[in-house]
Amino acid sequence: MSASSTVRIPVSGMTCAACQARVQRALQKQPGVSDATVNLMMKSATVAFDPAVASTDALIAAIRATGYGAERAADDQSALEEQEARDRADADEFADFRRKAIVSGVLGAVAMLLMPPPWVQAVLAIVVMAWAGRDFYVRAWSAARHGGADMNTLVAVGTGAAFLYSMVATAAPHLFTTSGLAPDVYFEAVIIIIALVLTGHAFEARAKRNTASALRALIHLQPHTARVERFGSEVEAPVDTVEPGEIVIVRPGERLPVDGEVTSGESAVDESMLTGESVPVAKAPGDRVIGGTINRAGAFRYRATTVGAASVLAQVVRLMRDAQGTRAPIQRLADQISGVFVPVVIALSAITFLAWYLLAGDASLMRAFAAAVAVLIIACPCAMGLAVPTAVMVATGKGAELGVLFKGGEALQVAAGIQVVVLDKTGTVTEGHPSVVDVAYASTAASSVHDERLALVAALEASSEHPLAESIVAYAAARGLTVARPSAFVSHTGLGASGVVDGHAVVVGNAALMAEHDISVAPLADAAERAAAAARTAVYAAVDGALVALLAIADPIKPSSRAAIARLRALGLDVVMLTGDTERTARAIADAAGIPRVVAGVLPEGKVAEIKRLQAEGTIVAMVGDGINDAPALAQANVGIAIGTGTDIAAEAGDVVLMRGDLMGVAQAVELARRTMRTMRQNLFWAFIYNVIGIPVAAGVLYPAFGLLLSPVIASAAMAFSSVSVVTNSLRLRSARIA
Ligand code: ADP
Ligand code: MG
Repeated sequence: MSASSTVRIPVSGMTCAACQARVQRALQKQPGVSDATVNLMMKSATVAFDPAVASTDALIAAIRATGYGAERAADDQSALEEQEARDRADADEFADFRRKAIVSGVLGAVAMLLMPPPWVQAVLAIVVMAWAGRDFYVRAWSAARHGGADMNTLVAVGTGAAFLYSMVATAAPHLFTTSGLAPDVYFEAVIIIIALVLTGHAFEARAKRNTASALRALIHLQPHTARVERFGSEVEAPVDTVEPGEIVIVRPGERLPVDGEVTSGESAVDESMLTGESVPVAKAPGDRVIGGTINRAGAFRYRATTVGAASVLAQVVRLMRDAQGTRAPIQRLADQISGVFVPVVIALSAITFLAWYLLAGDASLMRAFAAAVAVLIIACPCAMGLAVPTAVMVATGKGAELGVLFKGGEALQVAAGIQVVVLDKTGTVTEGHPSVVDVAYASTAASSVHDERLALVAALEASSEHPLAESIVAYAAARGLTVARPSAFVSHTGLGASGVVDGHAVVVGNAALMAEHDISVAPLADAAERAAAAARTAVYAAVDGALVALLAIADPIKPSSRAAIARLRALGLDVVMLTGDTERTARAIADAAGIPRVVAGVLPEGKVAEIKRLQAEGTIVAMVGDGINDAPALAQANVGIAIGTGTDIAAEAGDVVLMRGDLMGVAQAVELARRTMRTMRQNLFWAFIYNVIGIPVAAGVLYPAFGLLLSPVIASAAMAFSSVSVVTNSLRLRSARIA
C-alpha cells in the first residue's frame, strides 16, 4: 500500500457550484490523487494523494490550470490566525462587490433614466464591463481555454452578446432597419445585469460571513494576555509566551488565558461558551480549567497545562473548521447537476434563440435575443452550490455553542436518521466515579484479618486501570491499609484481575471470573442479591482459592440522565443500555434512569457485536460512550458520540463529541441534525425549483398563452435573490430553539 498525505490548499476565485465542481474534477483527474473535495464556502481544496506520484506544487498547478488561484497554505498558521485571515479576505471581498455594485448600479440608472445617446451608453457599458465586470470575463475566458464553463461563462456570454448586439445596432443601424427591425440597444441592460449580479454576490458574501459567526465568536474568546508568576512577581505577559507549568493568576470576572489545573483558591467558572453548560462550574484545587472560559466571583491560581495549538479552544476551533469544510452526502446530487449545468444551459439558450427566431413573427430577432440572454442569466447555479455548505456551516457553529461538536456534514446527515441510541453504562449513564459502599465477608474473622485480605485485594487492583479497581484502592487507602506490590498480575478484560501478592493467590472480579477459577460465590449470594437490588456492582474477592468478600460498589446515575433519556424517547428513539455488569444491577440502574432495554454481561469486544446485531436488523444506531474504552463500538456505530474528556478533543473517537459530560447533548445533537437536514432539503428544493421554473419562463414558454416574458434584468434580479434566500434560510438555524 502506498502512503497517502492530505493537504489543504486555499483556492481563490470560485464563485459558484460549477466552479467548485470544475476544480474538484481537475484535482481528481490528477495522477496519484485518491480523493479531492473542494469547498466553496471555505474556499479550499482538501486533497488526499500519494506523495510518490503527486506533490502539493503539482496540485496547485492543476488548480491554477483551471483558471482559479491557488497557493500553499501557511502551515505555521494556527486555526485562529487562519480564520482571522479568512475573515479579512471575506470582508475585502464584500467591500469590493459592494463598491462595484453601487457604482455600476448608479451608472445603470443614469443610462436608463437619462437615456443619453447610444454612444454615451456604449462608453458607460464598456467602463462597467471592464472594471466592475472584469472578473466575469477573465474567468469565463480562462474556463473556456480549458474547455470548461461556469457561472462566469453565463454572465459573460449573456452580457457579452447583448453588448455586441447593441454595438452593431449603434454602429450600423441600417443592418436592422433594412429588414424592418428597430435598431434597439441593450447597453443599460448590460450595466444593470452586472450591477445586480454583483449586488447578489455582495449580499451573499455578507450572509456567508454570518455563517461563520460561531467560529469567529470562539476565536475571540482567546485573551491576548495572561497574568503569570515570573521571578517571584506577577507580570502581565502576552498569552503566547505562557509555557506549560507556569502559574497563572485569575481575578474575578476575568477570562482564563490558557488551560490548566487549579493550584490554589476557589471560584466558579462560566464554561457555557465551550460546553453549553449554563450553570457556572465550581472549581477548587486539582480541578481542570479551560482557556477562554470566564471566572466569576472568586480568585484562583492555576498551573498552565496546554497552550497554543494544543489548547482545548484551539482544538475546538480546528475541529469546527475541518467540519465546516466537509460536505454532506445529500450534496452529491447538486454537485453532479452543477457539473453539467452550464453547457446544458448554454444549449438551452441557443435553442431558445432559434425557436424564437424561427417561430415568432414580428420583431423576432430582438425577442429571440432577449429570451436567450434571460435564460443564460437566470440559470446560474449559485443557490445550488450554497444550499448544503451554508447549512453545514451554521449547524456546526450552532452545535459548538451547545457544546456538541459535529465532525462533519456527513455526521449531521446520519445523526438526523438515528433510530436506536445505545448507551454505555459506566461514565455515560452513570457518573463513572464508583465508590465502595459496603463490604460483606464470607467468614466471621477478626476485623484485622479482614483488613489484611482487603489489603491484598487492593494491592492487586492498584495495578488495574478499571474505575472499579480505583474505587477499591481508594477504599483501602481510606481505611489506612498499606498495600504491597503484586509479584504477578493478569488483567481479565471485562471480568476482573488475578495475580499474586505477598505469596497469596488473589482473584478479584465478577461471578464469571470466580467460576473460571472454580471459586463458589454461593456463600455470599444474599449479599450479592442485596447489592444488585440497590443498583450496586458486586465485586468478589478470593484469596488462596477461597472466597473472602463481596464489595458492593455504587456508581450514581448522572443527575441529568433521566431527563435526557426521556427527551431521547420523546424524539421517538429507542434507547438501549449496554454494560459488562450483571443483568440485575444493570436493570436496577436502567429502571432508575428510565431506560427500557438493557443488554448486560457483555464483554468489551461484545459491544461491537451487539451494535452489528442491531444494524443487521436494519436500524441506524448511535453509540454513546466515553471515547477511550469504547472506541471500537463508537467506530462500528452509524454515529459514534463520544462524551468528551475535555483534554484531547481532536483525538477523541466518534463522529460527534460532547463537550459537556451529560446525555442532554445526545438529544441536542439529534434535534440539531434533524433541523439541519430539513433546512438542507428546503434549500435544495428552492434552488432546483427556481431553475426548473425560471428557465422555461425565461425561454418564453408562458408567452404564447399569457404574453409573459422575463426581461434579462428581471432574470438577474431573480438570480441574485435565490442565492441570498438560500443563505438566509440556513442562517435561520442559528436561532433554532434547541433546549
Ligand atoms: P462496564 O460496562 O461497566 O464498562 P466492564 O466491561 O468494564 O463493564 O466490566 C464488566 C464487569 O467486569 C464489571 O462490572 C466488574 O464486575 C468486572 N470487572 C472488570 N474489571 C474489574 C476489576 N479490575 N476489578 C473488579 N472487577 C472488574
Ligand atoms: Mg467501561
